[in-house]
Parts: sequence; C-alpha cells; structure tokens
Amino acid sequence: DRALVWCRRDLRLEDHSALAAACSRSRQVWMVFVLDTDILDLLPRQDRRVEFIRESLVDLDGQLQRAGREAGSPDVRLIVRHGPARQEVPALAALLDVQAVFAAHDDEPDALARDGAVSQTLARRGVAWHSVKDHVVFERREVMTGSGGPYGVFTPYKNAWLKRLQAEPQALESRAARHAALAAWPATLLGSPRVPTLADIGFETTDLAQLRLPTGSQGAAQLLADFLPRLARYDQTRDFPAVKGPSYLSTHLRFGTVSIRQLARSAWPLAQAGSSGASTWLSELIWRDFYHQLLHHHPRVATHCYKPEFDALRWDEGPEAERLLQAWCEGRTGYPLVDAAMRQLRQTGYMHNRLRMVTASFLTKDLGVDWRRGEAWFARWLNDFDLAANNGGWQWAASTGCDAQPWFRIFNPVTQSQKFDPQGRFIRRYVPELAGLDERSLHAPWTAPAGLLSAAGVALGRDYPAPVVDHAQARERTLQRFKALDAAG
Ligand code: FAD
Repeated sequence: DRALVWCRRDLRLEDHSALAAACSRSRQVWMVFVLDTDILDLLPRQDRRVEFIRESLVDLDGQLQRAGREAGSPDVRLIVRHGPARQEVPALAALLDVQAVFAAHDDEPDALARDGAVSQTLARRGVAWHSVKDHVVFERREVMTGSGGPYGVFTPYKNAWLKRLQAEPQALESRAARHAALAAWPATLLGSPRVPTLADIGFETTDLAQLRLPTGSQGAAQLLADFLPRLARYDQTRDFPAVKGPSYLSTHLRFGTVSIRQLARSAWPLAQAGSSGASTWLSELIWRDFYHQLLHHHPRVATHCYKPEFDALRWDEGPEAERLLQAWCEGRTGYPLVDAAMRQLRQTGYMHNRLRMVTASFLTKDLGVDWRRGEAWFARWLNDFDLAANNGGWQWAASTGCDAQPWFRIFNPVTQSQKFDPQGRFIRRYVPELAGLDERSLHAPWTAPAGLLSAAGVALGRDYPAPVVDHAQARERTLQRFKALDAAG
C-alpha cells in the first residue's frame, strides 16, 4: 500500500498517468526524479536542457506542495536524487519500504535497458514494477495495419490513428490522481527536502533565462495560452521561420511539463469542426506518435537506415568532408538561410521545422555528409532533442527513412530561402553581416553585383563566406551517389 512514482519524461502533476495509477492503488505515494549520472556524465557542463529540467523540478516541487496542502497534507515534496538511476531507484524503494514503483513507458533503447535492469532488481526484492503509457496518445502496438504489422507510411498511419481515437475518445481523457494519497516528506529517512542546484550536480548556469523558453508546467501553460489564438492560422504560418507560427512547445513535450493528451484535446474538436489550422497541428502531434512507434518496432533505426538498402550508401569522408561538416555546424556555409538556421540552433537551442528540413537536406545532399553526423549535432544542441523525432526527421531528409523525401527530390537552399524567408527577416536576425543586402541578393550573395556588395559593406570571403559548394554540382553528385546504389542493388 506504499508506492513510488518515478518521473522521467513527465515532469508535471496534472494529467499524469503513472501518478494516477499509483494513487488509485496505493495509500501512500511519493514522487521521485533521479538526476541520472549515467545520462548527465555524457553531457557538456553547460547544457540548457539540464537547467530546464532543474527549473522544472522546482516548479513540480511547488505543485506538489500546493496539492498536498489542498489535500490536507502540508509536507508533500518532490524527492530528487542524484546518481545512477539503476541504483538510486531500487535503493529509494528499499528505504521507503514501498511495495511498488510506477513509471511511464520510455521506448528509447537505452531507457528500455535501464528500466529492464531496474525492474529486475526490484523484482528480486519483491517490489512490483508498473509502467504505463503517458508520453504519446497511441503507442507500441496500438495502431497497426490490417495485417497486424507496424505502419511505415505516415498517411495511412494517421488515418488509422484518427479512426482509433474516434472509437476510443477516452484516450485523450485527463488522468486524474487522488491527491489524498500523496505522502508526507519522510524527514527521518531523507533529511530536509531540496531540489539540488546546478552547482550541486556539477553543472553551470546557461543563458536559458534569457531565452524565450519559460520552464515547468507554468511555462508550458504560458506558451499554450499564447499559441491557442494562433492555432486557426497554423497551417498558413508554420512554414515561415520569421513568423511566430508554431507552438514552441516541443521542449515541454519532451520533458512532459505538459501532457500530450491535453494538447490533443485542444486541437481535436476544432479539427473535427473543420479548422485546417487545428487539423494540421494535430497531424504534427500524430507525426510525433508515428516516430515513437517506429522506434519501438525498429530500434535499429537509432544507428542504421530504416531502409537497409541505404546502409550501403557511400557518404563522403576524410578531411574535406570534415571541413564542410565544420562549416555547417558553425553556420558558415555561404548559404545564408542554412547559416542563419545553424546559428539559431547554437544561440537558442531551437530550430524552426522548415529549417531543420533545409539544413538536414543541405548536409546530406549538398555536402554529402552522413546523416548520422548531423543527427548527433542536433542531439547535442536541440533543447527538444528526442531520439525518435530527431532520427525520423534526419532519415526523412536523407531519404533513407520510411516515407522519406524521395532521393531525387533535392531542396534547393536558395529557392527555399526565397520562398520561406522572402524578405530575409530571419536571415538578417542571425546573419547580421548580410543585413545591408536587399531582398534579391540576400538569398545568394555571390550572385549580387559587386557594387551592391561593397555598398552593403560585404566582401565575400572576408565578412561572409563564399558558398562552400556549388548547389547544381552537389546535386548531381548526390543523384550519382543514390543511382550507384540502385545499380548495385
Ligand atoms: P509545432 O509546429 O508547434 O508542433 C507541435 C509539436 O508536434 C511539436 O512540439 C512536436 O512535439 C511535434 N512535431 C511537430 N513536427 C514534428 C515532426 N516532424 N516529427 C515529430 N514530431 C513533430 N522534434 C522534436 O521534438 N525533437 C527533435 O529532436 C526533432 N528533431 C528534428 C530533426 C529534423 C531533421 C527534423 C526535420 C525535424 C525534427 N523535429 C524534432 C520535428 C520538428 O521540427 C519539431 O518538433 C518542431 O520544430 C518543434 O517546434 P514546435 O514545438 O514549435 O512545433
């Protein structure tokens, strides 16, 4: 009758599947988050995500205190541990003498291995392990093809997903927890409650507070309230990086400071009533489920191409490829939209979806570099980094994935720029050295008349790089690269 809820990607109190399940079965429930050194040890000492988590834990601790007070228990607090989760969770379960540990599913390969190890240790000690769905609307084997296999193409998956929701609208219901079960802080066992500071865990403060990314459930609520009035126009605005089109909720979805059910509940009725903005946004949430189920069914995509025939692709290697990769990472390829996007990533930890497609295409199709190198760079810098979505996005752009961009359709970085940042407002923000150029020259400064460049104070090669590759030639090389594969196959 005592239970521990182990939070991971569900840093909130409302609509929390594991907490609701624990509170319905147990008389006393504690919530714990482990700052897992198996993960943290691999990160740089300044990492916005670690700070985001830390701030969100403070927020969650506050929510727990309030919920406790309302339920008549003044000492409810969040337990935060720092160490390897594989050891911390069983140790805490023993200390608190709980009969069960509840957690939400996490289908990343490393998380599955960790949870397998923890649940085995617990089982040996007679403690039950319960894991429940929380992070997505439909998961694992919930949306399958007529013949019982996993979907590999998005549109039929989406149709089946919507059909299932139609049949099972309770999938979006809030998971309400009985807060009376929240147990008081066990001071005799744990001393006084405290969320560790960044310094306590060996990390440094970042510029997170200066970014427009408010933390915790409060931050998610703020972003959602800001987005909902824009939802109706999402389909028209979402492709333009200089426009405030999308929700900017991805980091909150990643860490579960907002519930996916709550977001889907906001969009689904509007989508059904014919709002194309809401149905386009709902589609994006379905893409998220799609990539999660894909990783679950095909964990090999974490290191290999979804389509095995593409594993034989010969990406460029050697010093020249490294030089080009470096230029891409640092935002000095000479293609202004690509550079603006890559600088946005480093400066803010966010990149607009259209630009993720453009930069991923540029690395793989213009620079000929293996998609895994770009995937790793995004994983390092994205605040919303999520293995399933990032891998899915990269394999889409590299044409190696399921339902991917066909390999013979190659984004032209200049045309993309003219189409999606027509006045160059986004480019000017992140590539200020080109701000003096007019709308016609900004997208491809090497085509600008010399007089115009010098009037704008730009010398190519000095103030801003000349293009590192010629797009038309690069495109030909990429077509050959893929054709060679076809011939070999
Ligand atoms: P909105 O447009 O408001 O969309 C709402 C939510 O839907 C997002 O927060 C996200 O959770 C989900 N979503 C939207 N588009 C996609 C998509 N294509 N695939 C999966 N989920 C989606 N998204 C991540 O969350 N983490 C990643 O690491 C990630 N890496 C990507 C890498 C590449 C190469 C590409 C092309 C896309 C990647 N995406 C990733 C998907 C998408 O770009 C981001 O989810 C989106 O830009 C986040 O901004 P937003 O919250 O304002 O999105």
